Amino acid sequence: MAIKTPISVAYGDGIGPEIMQATMRILEAANAPIEPEVIEVGEKVYLQGNSSGIPDEAWNTLKRTKVLLKSPITTPQGGGYKSLNVTMRKTLGLFANVRPCVSYYPYVPTKFPKIDLVIVRENEEDLYAGIEHRQSDEVYQCIKLITRPGCEQIIHYAFEYARKFNRKKVTCLSKDNIMKMTDGLFHRVFNEIAAEYPDIQHDHLIVDIGTALIASCPEKFDVIVTLNLYGDIISDVAAQVAGSVGLAGSANIGNQMAMFEAIHGSAPDIAGKDIANPSGLLNAAVQMLVHINQPNVATLIENAWLTTLEDGIHTADIYSKEYSKEKVGTKGFADAVIKRLGKKPTHFKPANYQADVETNIQCYGVRPAVVSKKVLVGVDIIIDNPKDVPAEEIAAKIAKVSNTLQLIVITSRGLKIWPNSTIDAPYLRHCCCRFQSAKDTKALKAVSQNDIIQLQSAINALGLDIIKTENLYTFDGELGFTLAQGQ
Ligand code: NAD
Repeated sequence: MAIKTPISVAYGDGIGPEIMQATMRILEAANAPIEPEVIEVGEKVYLQGNSSGIPDEAWNTLKRTKVLLKSPITTPQGGGYKSLNVTMRKTLGLFANVRPCVSYYPYVPTKFPKIDLVIVRENEEDLYAGIEHRQSDEVYQCIKLITRPGCEQIIHYAFEYARKFNRKKVTCLSKDNIMKMTDGLFHRVFNEIAAEYPDIQHDHLIVDIGTALIASCPEKFDVIVTLNLYGDIISDVAAQVAGSVGLAGSANIGNQMAMFEAIHGSAPDIAGKDIANPSGLLNAAVQMLVHINQPNVATLIENAWLTTLEDGIHTADIYSKEYSKEKVGTKGFADAVIKRLGKKPTHFKPANYQADVETNIQCYGVRPAVVSKKVLVGVDIIIDNPKDVPAEEIAAKIAKVSNTLQLIVITSRGLKIWPNSTIDAPYLRHCCCRFQSAKDTKALKAVSQNDIIQLQSAINALGLDIIKTENLYTFDGELGFTLAQGQ
């Protein structure tokens, strides 16, 4: 008898239990060699007072099985409840979010019958790290943290995925024309890693035109790799133009763990009515089977599912007079798929997953750190200025308080407001005072942490309200900060 792979299973909320039951029945009928262990996460757990929605027992099971098949979860309204998905991604190190996006024309209407793309989205960093602060009455910030290891891991994963799944091209989307340091790093690492895969084509697009092209000619894309926020947005654009939001599954992959789920939510409006389409979760289960190296069962189930679509057996969400023959509920759809196990589609290309296809994709760890010569050369000191004291007055007060650091520029929201501001009505309530060891950035020399602490003490003694400081460094002589507009 084949050894069964233990997997954690979360039945979720809303339509979750119905679509999971349907999926589990299909897995069982296909003799998938899995050993499901049910975990309780989600709404019930939240309402018992657990703000993460995940009890300790569930973590223990997850960490032991290392694979989770999860139905959608309802996050209760109101403050204090943390997104279970974000908690899981971060705690379990699920760095890659992989969303295949395919059109099933004509059975699912779309203007683009040939979409077959995969979005590989960075899952742990970027603005989604959730590092936010309120700095003053009027100003809030969200920090975009991008690390080189984070970029390397996801971009490597995208190229390995392309190679293992016989994809031809990887497209990188970033906004490095504006965010030259963070998105610039992502683009640079993409170029470095692309050079290691000469068998795979690569290109880069700025994310705004990239998104427009996904909406207008999605058939041109193959694998897309991008940062967390852009990936989230383009995933929905791509799923929508494919017409298959309810059909798509997604994988969250880490070095040790993986989680598989449908891309839709818990659909409380149709819960308990036996009308939900279980296809998104079923497709996620197929991704899971490939991941745990069960390619034959994955192929069997996907082909049965494609045949069901072709035979016109459809749930209400994709039912049409033209292409459907029979409208079925969740259970009826699962029965139809089970009846077709062993059949191959004739209109769609049959699935044919290969053994070991995913092994090794995720084992690219972090490269050894490259240690550069890091020199402290200045500081940005940000001041809350609710009384709109003019920048000239602030500058006159603070310009001469340090022997080693000179005031170079004061900016507001990245724009120069001192010296020689050309802005008509500058926003004065958030002043970033930049101090450097020399005016000319080519002549910057080292200062000490003590110099910066003394500068801050002196500014504080003048009664100015420091809300944040950011050290300025050079790395091997290169500036580690952008120049303010107008600096
Ligand atoms: P939703 O995806 O649940 O529903 C949007 C619309 O699509 C609804 O009309 C719904 O009936 C329909 N729909 C969704 N899945 C369907 C299916 N399988 N078959 C047929 N119709 C389907 O999105 P929402 O209404 O914004 O969110 C509802 C809840 O789901 C919220 O609590 C949200 O937080 C949660 N959610 C969870 C996840 C997750 O756990 N991964 C993802 C998204 C939303």
